[in-house]
Amino acid sequence: MSNTLFDLKGKTALITGGNGGIGLGIAEGFAESGANLAIAARNTEKTQEVVTKFNGKNTPTIGIEVDVSDLASVENMVADTLKAYGSIDILVNNAGIGIRNLPQEYDIEDWNKVIDINLTGAFLSSKAVYPSMKKQGAGKIINIGSMTSIFGLDWAVAYASSKGGIVQLTKTLAVSWAKDGIQANTILPGWIHTDLTQGIKDNYKNRYDHILSRIPENRWGEPADLSGTAIFLASDASNYVTGVSIPVDGGYTSF
Ligand code: NDP
Repeated sequence: MSNTLFDLKGKTALITGGNGGIGLGIAEGFAESGANLAIAARNTEKTQEVVTKFNGKNTPTIGIEVDVSDLASVENMVADTLKAYGSIDILVNNAGIGIRNLPQEYDIEDWNKVIDINLTGAFLSSKAVYPSMKKQGAGKIINIGSMTSIFGLDWAVAYASSKGGIVQLTKTLAVSWAKDGIQANTILPGWIHTDLTQGIKDNYKNRYDHILSRIPENRWGEPADLSGTAIFLASDASNYVTGVSIPVDGGYTSF
């Protein structure tokens, strides 16, 4: 007998920021588990490349231009996905940015931008998918937090605040929408090689090595490292798991 607990066959996954980095790593895992994909991000060229690649591997995939900090844009993203597939079974709130500066020098416009994309964007997207998930009596929301959901970080005041907020947003969605058959959970990625962290590797070698020295698995993570936990949280295997935050960090939070 085959194990269908982790099967995503026929399910639709909407992934914000799915055109690169961690979002793409998760999308690849979902594709291998049989899901249909909606890849939503700002850069349409980058998105189209990913869409072409997935469609070439027989994974039904659409690309959607979205700015998750903009309500109308988010509502269009959800409407377009529903139009294409008829349902949204899984939402991954992965889109995120970082703007580095010390708290005492942090610009209010930068603060607003980071909070609007990383935290408000996840709220708007979750709110927009809710009516259809409620109607079908099932849904999975996966939010992407960070090590800064737990730890402070001197040059990441807005980023860390947004990622702390993501954990509380997740818990609130979980307790509010459990009665509708919706589970909401957070993945807390450790330090992962992506465009977001490339600058640390290139320009702050000491910081990069210091982080490495704190990772028991003795390597920075890759986007594919996130896909197993994402598949678990997207599948029936996690139907009694809601409101939790799961570190995928090579042991960083245990050290
Ligand atoms: P990337 O920079 O590679 O990816 C960020 C993604 O977000 C891109 O696809 C980008 O696409 C999209 N995006 C950014 N702003 C918006 C917006 N306003 N609307 C829609 N999409 C947007 O970084 P990562 O893959 O590293 O980051 C993905 C998530 O993982 C983020 O939430 C990040 O905070 C989190 N994370 C990353 C860690 C790491 O070590 N790399 C560690 C912990 C958490 P486009 O530019 O086309 O819009």
